[in-house]
Amino acid sequence: MSTGLRRFTTPRPESASPAGAERGCELCTEPLGTEHRHVVNIESRRILCTCRACYLLFTHPGAGGGKHRAVPERYRHLPDFGTGARIWDATEIPVGMAFLFHSSVAGPVAFYPSPAGATESLLPVQEWERALRDNPALTELQADVEALLIKQSEDGFEGFLVPIDACYRLVGIVRTHWKGFDGGTEARDRIEEFFESLRRRGERIEARDV
Ligand SMILES: [Zn+2]
Ligand SMILES: [Zn+2]
Repeated sequence: MSTGLRRFTTPRPESASPAGAERGCELCTEPLGTEHRHVVNIESRRILCTCRACYLLFTHPGAGGGKHRAVPERYRHLPDFGTGARIWDATEIPVGMAFLFHSSVAGPVAFYPSPAGATESLLPVQEWERALRDNPALTELQADVEALLIKQSEDGFEGFLVPIDACYRLVGIVRTHWKGFDGGTEARDRIEEFFESLRRRGERIEARDV
């Protein structure tokens, strides 16, 4: 298949919000705290809030018929992500942030946060493959549940290897706080706070580390 522009249903980031704490586990209705785990439905790409027992059922690929997969909790940081510049040139990402991941149903996909939610952008397959070749650390990303989150700054690009639900936390921040054309001070502060927490949490790796 040629790469072309592919459109899919936008994932529903609201499922990744603290609202899950009010609804309870989406697989068994067990009550949930604000801090809880998530699993992804790999067909709809929907994120489900789950209790610990349901989460553990899906920590092995193929478990439960293979439709759900547990979102792991590792965070890594690539402070100098040179590949970001090429990805920006090759895609139609209109803002300074985007997340890319491999969907086992749709292949490599790219989304950016916007006031309307997570919006899909063009990601040529060969760009993703090239990024993997240039950055061996990316080959460790688990399909559907882990993503490469890229942030553009004045002097370059940073990469973060994160659980997919972290990307939807960022989407939620943008959707809730973005105002006007440039987002406004409130949105910028909250976005910076979010990335700062990723930097603190992430194990720092150089772009060429495995
Ligand atoms: Zn449950
Ligand atoms: Zn949740």
